[in-house]
Amino acid sequence: MIGSTASGSDRVPTLQWNARVNSSKAKNPVATVPGSDKIMLENKVGMIFGVANKRSIAWACADACSKQGAKMAFTYQGERLKENVEKLAGELPDSLVLPCDVTNQAEVDSAFEAVGRKYGKLDFLIHSIAFAPREALEGEFVTTTREAFLSALEISAFSLTQLALGASLLMKEGGSIVTMSYYGAEKVVMNYNVMGVAKAALEASTRYLAADLGKQNIRVNAISAGPINTLSARGVKNMGSLLTYVGERSPLKRNVKASEVGNTALFLVSDLASGITGETIYVDCGYNIMGV
Ligand code: NAD
Repeated sequence: MIGSTASGSDRVPTLQWNARVNSSKAKNPVATVPGSDKIMLENKVGMIFGVANKRSIAWACADACSKQGAKMAFTYQGERLKENVEKLAGELPDSLVLPCDVTNQAEVDSAFEAVGRKYGKLDFLIHSIAFAPREALEGEFVTTTREAFLSALEISAFSLTQLALGASLLMKEGGSIVTMSYYGAEKVVMNYNVMGVAKAALEASTRYLAADLGKQNIRVNAISAGPINTLSARGVKNMGSLLTYVGERSPLKRNVKASEVGNTALFLVSDLASGITGETIYVDCGYNIMGV
């Protein structure tokens, strides 16, 4: 079979096949990718939820999108993070910084109003928010309290629906929403506990939102990122051991970098991903494919 691409009388010699593939590429050139001279997010406006510091996955997403021409509004949760976010966002042209704790609906509404006033539209939104009380991220899931369960689900999962509704009102020409999930949504990961349940709700919400908002040409996708050493990740007990375990067992024999998650978010918010919605895309150095 070497040198052909089909069997029996349909055999096509390799050279002939290559010529066909190349001529079809010339007629339908593939979209330009990062590193070329095409600006992927020219004239696009984004909202970034979830920057706490420069290690935040949200910041890696913003960095990737900014390099491709996006203008962005950043939200921060609470006064203690304001200075960090203002300093980071201040490095980017035409940015906006707004307070927004997702448990405060008035702050959420004001954030969208401010974006509408400044930019007049919204093209993409990155949701990179999660929270569970520290005591719920160690020991056994069975001891999760009602309070911990409700706050984890509200902040880490419901907030996607809450923000998608606000964003949809500003996404008049369509748009793209990306959220951050983790493998603990589908398999048991020690100590991840209630956050795994919240991520399962988040991934299901991604699909339901994609179904609702598709008619407005708004796409909704999740990235399932491998473990990365961030502020939130350090709240999960024994995160260091998890990083070592995953780094040794993943096909690429390392842990994923925040910049790699950022680049995937850039792809998902760009027109290159115009046919993708409702998906959970793994950016985990392949860890999720491994069995024994
Ligand atoms: P991070 O601590 O940098 O970001 C978490 C953000 O959530 C912070 O900016 C925090 O202010 C925000 N947040 C928490 N409660 C909030 C509230 N009530 N209102 C508004 N914002 C609130 O950590 P990160 O690792 O960059 O986390 C970002 C996302 O990525 C989370 O959804 C997390 O679960 C997900 N994720 C992280 C990893 C990882 O290993 N780091 C892996 C997969 C998915």
